[in-house]
This record gives sequence, C-alpha cells and structure tokens, in this order.
Amino acid sequence: MRLRTILVLTLAPATLAAQSNAERVLSGAYTWSHDYDLLHQRIELRKFDWDSLAFDGTVKTTALSLRPGLDSLILDMSKWLQVRSVTGTGGAKLDFVHTSDSLVVRLARPAGFRDTVRFTVDYYGKVEQGRGLYFFKEEPGRPHRPQQVYSGGGTDGNPRWIPTFGGPTDKETWELIATVPTRYTVVSNGRLVSDRRVAGGLHTVHWSQERPASTYLISLVVAPLVKLTDRWRKVPLEYYIYPEDSALARPLFGVTPDMMETYTRLTGVPYPWAKYAQTTVADFIGGMENVTATTLVDWLPDRRAYLDRPWFQHSLIPHELAHQWFGDLVTTENWANYWLNEGMAEFMPGQYWGVKQGRHVEDDYYIDEYRKYIQTDARKRMPLATYNSNNVYPKGALVLQMLKKLLGPERFWSAMNRYLTRNAYGTANSDDLRQAVLDATGLNLGWFWSQWIYQAGYPQFAVSATYDSAASALTLTVKQTQVDTAKADSTGPRFTVPLAFTAPVTIRVGTAQGGADVIARRQIDRREQSFRIDGLRGQPTMVVFDDDNSILKSLDFNQPTPWLANQLAREEDLWNRDWAIQQLGQRTADTLAAAALRRAAQTADYDLTRASAAGWLRGFPADVALPALRAAVRDTSSRVRESAVQALGAIGGREAWTIVRAAWKDDPSYEVRAAALTAMAHLSPEGSREAVVLGLRTPSYRDVIQNAAIIAVLQHPDSGLISELDRIAGQQPLATIALAVLAARGDKQAADLIVKRLDDERSWVRAWALEAISRELDPDDALTLLRDALPKVRREDVRAAISAAIDKAVSSKQ
Ligand SMILES: [Zn+2]
Repeated sequence: MRLRTILVLTLAPATLAAQSNAERVLSGAYTWSHDYDLLHQRIELRKFDWDSLAFDGTVKTTALSLRPGLDSLILDMSKWLQVRSVTGTGGAKLDFVHTSDSLVVRLARPAGFRDTVRFTVDYYGKVEQGRGLYFFKEEPGRPHRPQQVYSGGGTDGNPRWIPTFGGPTDKETWELIATVPTRYTVVSNGRLVSDRRVAGGLHTVHWSQERPASTYLISLVVAPLVKLTDRWRKVPLEYYIYPEDSALARPLFGVTPDMMETYTRLTGVPYPWAKYAQTTVADFIGGMENVTATTLVDWLPDRRAYLDRPWFQHSLIPHELAHQWFGDLVTTENWANYWLNEGMAEFMPGQYWGVKQGRHVEDDYYIDEYRKYIQTDARKRMPLATYNSNNVYPKGALVLQMLKKLLGPERFWSAMNRYLTRNAYGTANSDDLRQAVLDATGLNLGWFWSQWIYQAGYPQFAVSATYDSAASALTLTVKQTQVDTAKADSTGPRFTVPLAFTAPVTIRVGTAQGGADVIARRQIDRREQSFRIDGLRGQPTMVVFDDDNSILKSLDFNQPTPWLANQLAREEDLWNRDWAIQQLGQRTADTLAAAALRRAAQTADYDLTRASAAGWLRGFPADVALPALRAAVRDTSSRVRESAVQALGAIGGREAWTIVRAAWKDDPSYEVRAAALTAMAHLSPEGSREAVVLGLRTPSYRDVIQNAAIIAVLQHPDSGLISELDRIAGQQPLATIALAVLAARGDKQAADLIVKRLDDERSWVRAWALEAISRELDPDDALTLLRDALPKVRREDVRAAISAAIDKAVSSKQ
C-alpha cells in the first residue's frame, strides 16, 4: 500500500502482556489462531446497485481441517453482509450464526484432521461507502469521474464484502467471477479465464488467481476502462485507464517492464505471477498492491508534469511493483511485522533509480525518506516491528539501506534472494529475514535487529574535535544524546530506545598538506567515547563523521566554516552534503559560508545539492544571495528553479520581484510557476492580483498552480478575488473550502456564495459546499449560515454528508 496522505491502520490494538517487544513479535503473539487452512475460494458477484451500495454474492470455500473433530468453521464477514443460506456438498443446508463480523458455519458432520471441507455462502452484499467497496455514480457533466465500483483491500478491507479469513497468514488460491453491464471492464487477480456475453446487456468475466496469496490481496475493479497492453519477457502487462487518459498512460506506465527486469536482476527472483495489471480509479487512497492487479489513484501526469519528476512514476509505480515480491510473494505473518511488506516496498524504488540513474539519485530518494522518518519519530517514537508502528515506510526503507551498506550489495542481495525463495508463496516474520542474512553471510546480526527493528529511535550524536599539533593527532569525542523516556504507552507496550547504539563508523580527515585523506574506521558502542586519529600531515581542513552516511542518525558537530565548505565541495554523499549546507546556511553573517553556498548552488553536480544551497541562501543579505539566485532560476532542473524562486520570495526587493515575475510568466514547470505565484503574492498582494486571477484559471497537474492561487486569495482576499474563487468552485474542492474558510472569518460575500452553491445544478459542487461548511465552520456558525438555505438543501445531499461525517468520525477513532 502507498498512501497519498497518511497511514491509518484500522485494527484495534490487542491487549498486550508486559513482554519485550522483540519477544512478542518473535513469539507470533500477533498472529491470529484458526483451526483450518483455506485452500480455495470461488467468488461470484452480480447485480451491483449503485443506489443502495449493494450486490449479490456467492462464495464457495474449500478448506482443510487442522484439528480432529472440527465441527464448525469461522470466517471473517462484515455484519452488513446479509447471509441468505449456507449449503454443504450436495446442496444440504448448513446451520450458521452470523454475529458481529464473524460467520460461524456448522458442518454437517465433524471433520477429521486434514479432511477437506466445502461449503457455499449465498448473500446479499451491502456495504457502507468506502468500507470494503467504493461505489461511485456517474455525475453528469463531471469530468474524469466515470461510474465505477472497486475494492479497497488492505489490512481489513476484504471481509467487508466477501466471507474469508482476514489475516495475512493463511494463503489460498481463488477465482473471481463478476457479471456486470458490457460497458464496464472487470479487472481482478491472476489469469483471465473467460469473458462471455450473457442476456440483458451483461457480460460475465472470470479471473483465476492460481498461485496462493493472502486474502487481503483479493481485488475487484468494475469501471468503463480501456486497456493498453505491454509485455515483460513472457508476462503480459495491462494498463487500465479511463478512455480520456489513453494518451497519458504509456509515458507513465511504460517504465514497468524495465522496473520488472531490474527487480528480477537485483533479487535473483523473476517476477513470480501470471500477469501484472495496473488500474486507475477515482479518489483512491494512493496505491494498493493487490496481487497481479495493483490499483492506483487516477492522477496521470501530463507531458509537462514530468519536468517535476512526478511522485506517481518515481515512487508509486515502483513501490507497488516491489510489493509483488515483498508482501505478495513473501507476506508478513502478522501486522506487527508489516514493515517487511512496507519497508521493502519503500526501499526498492531507491534501488531502481540508483541502478538506472546513479548514486546521487539513490541518495536523493533516501534523503526524502529520512526527512519523513525524523518528523514521524518526533511525534511518536516506535520500533519498526510492532503493532501499528508509525514508521514502517520510511524507517523500513532507511534500515534496509543501512543493512545494504553494512553488508555490501553482493551479500545483501544474496540474503534477500534467500528470504524470497525460502518463504515464497508463504509468510515471514522479522526474524526470518535475520535468518536469511545469517545463512547467506554467516553474520548473526542480532545486535542490528535488536536496536533497529525491535527497539525505537536512532542515535543522536554530539561530536567535538580537538587537534594536537605537537602530536599531529585529532581526537573526536562522540556522545550519544538520545534518551529513553521509559514511559509505557497507554495502549500497550513500552518501547525502549537504546542509550548506546552500536555501529561501525568511518571518519575521513583532510589536511592542509594535501595528499590523500586519512580514513579511520572505528566501532561505536558506548554512550560516550573518544577516537584518536594519528598520523595527520597537518591541521585538519575537513572532518567527515560517518563518511558514507552508513548510520541512520542526527549529527550535532560544530565545525569551523572552512571544514564545512571543504566538505560541501568534496563530498560525494548527498546526506553529508545536505548536512554541511544546513550548518553553513545558519551562518548568515559569514562571507565564507555564503561563498560556499553560492558555489554549490551554481556548480554542484547534482540538482538536490544546488536546490538545497539555493534555498538556504534566503537567510543571507540580498547583495550576497542575489547573484547566485539569479543564476539558479535559469538552472536546467525545475527543483533548483523552484527553490531559488522560494528564496527570492523570502529575500524580496525590486530585483527579486522582477525575477520571480518572469518565472511566473515563462517557466515551463508547473511547480516553479506555482512557487513563483506564491512568492509574488507574498511580495506584493496588490501587484500580484492579476497573476492570482490568471492562476485561478490555469490548469496544471494536480492543480498546483490553482492551489497556489487559492492560498494567495486566502492570504489577501478582496471581493473581486472572492468572485473569481467562486467561478472555479465546480472544478476542484479547494476553492469551495477556501470560501468556507473566508466565511468562517466573517466574510459575508464568501458566505453568500457558498450557500448559493448548496443549490448548484451539479451534485458534486453541492457536496463540496456542504462538506466545506461542516469542515471549516463551527457548528453554531454553520447553522446560522444555513438557516435560510436549509429548505433548498436536497435530501440526497444531506444523506451523503451525514454518511461522510460518520465515516470521518469512525476512522478518527480507530
Ligand atoms: Zn505499500
């Protein structure tokens, strides 16, 4: 799974004993017991009804009894689904009890150990919107939003629309057979068996998943889609999109065969399934790695959006594809080891881009993960392997990258190959991965697993250096300052933070006498320790702590400006460069620091470094920063130009204004133009007015320009701009939300306009207005606002709004 916003895991935390986290994960306390083994399910669905969010379902289950005298079998099945009958072999009716979210089927006679059990559940499937299935009706006139229904899958989605075993442990094969009107395509897992026309303008589409997989990967999409085909070796690839997106699909998905080839080569395990489909749907959470049939959000980049390296191609496609190995072929045994799925899937795109575009692009990918992890950890410090861990994506990726640096690529990929082949079509927990490393390399990395996977936090280093010129020796004092708060979380386990992390570290020292740097390798293993480095030829001119950035860490190391400038100029590793840039960026009165940043902004060999240096120049005096920023807005990379435009917006002045306005007018990148508009609105609300109006009318990928304009209106509203906001209220929801924000601030014009939208011809505009009012206004103000409008509000809108509100309340509780 890859979320476009935040991760919400929807299983209630279990009551946990006062066991250590590692013990609990290893002992499988999080793995649900059940006394059968699912072998196969044949899922037949028909009569989808978009008005009542319902369908008819028949699911035939074949399972193996895992205990002597098995007299009943329990499946997970939402209480919303209404069971009509359960029948055994030969059609004999079986007794059943359907309470809460479980279906208990009483078998005709007790089954023996390893006997096969078969029964068929016939039911009326009714769902709450977005719980299990998502129904979207056609809204006449609304672009890019055809009628459709699709499943959400994930950690708890599928028992909400089919009776099955919800946990990841029990793998099975399945068939999915759906009968729908012929104008809809049906996409599901595995191989297409048949697609037959039947009476009534319908067709029956039969898919078969013939290798075992976990049931949370069962998927269904029904929508009017077109299919583009492609191929990797002998595996058919399918890209399903709305007809109007046909021209955008191949540039986006065309990277897939090469990614499959690269992942196959890295892991030594060829893509393990019958086909690979990628299907875009409306309002999706982001991406879901349903086996052989990934579902994705319908944000296809246009040609211009590739100037900004779209997230969709850079991260989302390689993430979900990686899951076909990590997650789908080898699946976490339970959700406490979820990082084995998500950490690996988040790790792999960086490997792909590293192979294709080199080391800097690889570093660049993980710097982004690093920033996300540090923010997440600051909110709540949790280990990777624990139930509902908040950092399985970024920390998982970073820990795996650290492991790869520790082992080197040959040993790392050999271990991954063992992990994948040994557990193929099965499940694994965190210790299975450690075992694979042990078998491939002979290294028992218990210490690594203990501190990085079963415990929380990361080393926060405070380093200081002293040079003894008489002895030609440098002494580094290294302290670890992270604290273990020793507080149990109220929801269960106490997460420990190691007070002393263990890690090998490489220190690189450059000296004034020139010649090769001195490289010192030391072992970190104490809260506080000193390393003496002898044999320097002269005064140090640069000291790099953790030369290849092999440790996930924070670093506090106060250094003379020339050391930092040297490091920035000479360093290969992007994290180390970025660290040096940050130190230099805070020395805004230091001309040497300014010179180093100016040089990096203009001449560094990688755009992230140039962008970062340009960004930090914002704190320096205008005459120091401007020459470099003037050059940076002409950089070939849009992220450098964007960063320069943002810095110019902060610096201000006549020249900054001129440059930023030119970027708004002429830059080909959406992101740069959006940043330029924001900068202009900040520098001169009056002078930017015309540009803001134009921005409101300018289409761009994911509305970045329109959104920048909307935010500019919120910062400096006037009546003309508010009318302009209202003009685009039908195009995207943020404009309506902005009207509600203004209404909440007491703006009468905005209040009148948003009330008027409650009676709009277009159903989605009415829905956005109602939602924006309930979201942005306090309830009393909303009521006052709605008093005169209420008779005009349509019944169906109220129903939809109430159900959305309940949905939100429920998910915020989980
Ligand atoms: Zn994922």
